[in-house]
Amino acid sequence: MGKWEMSALDAYTNRVYKIIVLIIPIFCLCASTTITTLHFIGWYPDINETAMWLFDLSDVIYLSIGIYFIKTGFREDGIVYPDKLHAAKYTMAVIVIIQWNAISYIWPFTDFWAYCLLFTIVEAFFFDVKLVAFSTVGISVSMFISWFLKGGLLLPTEDNYFFANMTFRMVGLVLMLLSINIITYFGGHFLVEELEKYVNYDTLTHLLNRRSMDNYLQAAHRQAKTGQATFCLMMMDIDDFKKVNDTYGHDCGDEVLKYVAHTISSGVKKNDYVFRWGGEEILVLLNTDFDTALAAAERIRADIARDPVDYRGTTKVPVTITIGVSPYTAGATIQQMMDDADAKLYYGKKHGKNQVVGVLPDENGGNGGDKKDKNENTIKTPALAFGLLPNRA
Ligand code: GH3
Ligand code: MG
Ligand code: MG
Repeated sequence: MGKWEMSALDAYTNRVYKIIVLIIPIFCLCASTTITTLHFIGWYPDINETAMWLFDLSDVIYLSIGIYFIKTGFREDGIVYPDKLHAAKYTMAVIVIIQWNAISYIWPFTDFWAYCLLFTIVEAFFFDVKLVAFSTVGISVSMFISWFLKGGLLLPTEDNYFFANMTFRMVGLVLMLLSINIITYFGGHFLVEELEKYVNYDTLTHLLNRRSMDNYLQAAHRQAKTGQATFCLMMMDIDDFKKVNDTYGHDCGDEVLKYVAHTISSGVKKNDYVFRWGGEEILVLLNTDFDTALAAAERIRADIARDPVDYRGTTKVPVTITIGVSPYTAGATIQQMMDDADAKLYYGKKHGKNQVVGVLPDENGGNGGDKKDKNENTIKTPALAFGLLPNRA
């Protein structure tokens, strides 16, 4: 299976990962540098020095955690490991919450909690609403606890305006935290998810694309190797599609392709996957045994052959497809299965098209397709052998 170019989304995630796992520790270090410097120039005399040094030390540790994530986070092809990304996000969120608490208890003045937005805002770059919600809850809970533990320092002075002041602050706080959550939600939902569709799906047919295929194939293959499940691959190709383009134009060709893709998608179960493998070649991963797969293939073939495609209400375009089906057999690799499905498809193309080929006539353990037509007159077509010979026009 080939390596893929990094998508825009991968590139974005990579950058954000690198920046956030460094910027959060660096922000933390800024806080400890500021507090320590203020202490030593005498502007902040009454700090507990042990607490201050522990605070400084913790911020150095955060930076080493960030560096660790950068050093260990990337796959060979330069993309962040998904589990590392997840771990880094939540580690940083926890660091941010600890830091918020540390500063609130070290810093002796009442208005510190107005800065709480600062402690969630950079996380928005991940566009992960769960992450930002996690931090929001963590920071809000920490704040309420701190009001009880150290209210004298964190709450406004108790004068006539105490409740007005508190209300005003609460409203501001809620609105700030709400905004950051809303921004993250909309960014995640409308930008990232949309981008993900472009990365994993083909825009013309809305089938999964070749790039997203590897993961599904490997997952099915892993399962099959344990003996708990089996699967089949169907390789399909539209018959004489060049002629469709030449006769009716490329737009019409596109419509036919969409129609075929749709018919195939509707013809398989929810847990089966349909990929646009090439131009007008479609690969289906069926989580079923061979007989069920052959029956499904035959049903799809017949569905497509039954009615011509209606192009703009004026043109009827007859369409047929040829399908090669390859079952998983113990020890087979994905590549071998693909080659086998391909050889069967090729055989079908050479022997009249519009048919399903499940077994090659000269199949005896090898994966040799009959590519030279030498058996044309001596061996029944495999489709016939399976009782699946289509009605030819
Ligand atoms: P065969 O029965 O042997 O498959 O004949 P064919 O004409 O279909 O041959 P082949 O599969 O090699 O041809 C593929 C053609 O499909 C070539 C290309 O012009 C056309 N094609 C590939 N992708 C698209 C597409 O997205 N839209 C349109 N309209 N045509 C496409
Ligand atoms: Mg074709
Ligand atoms: Mg083709």
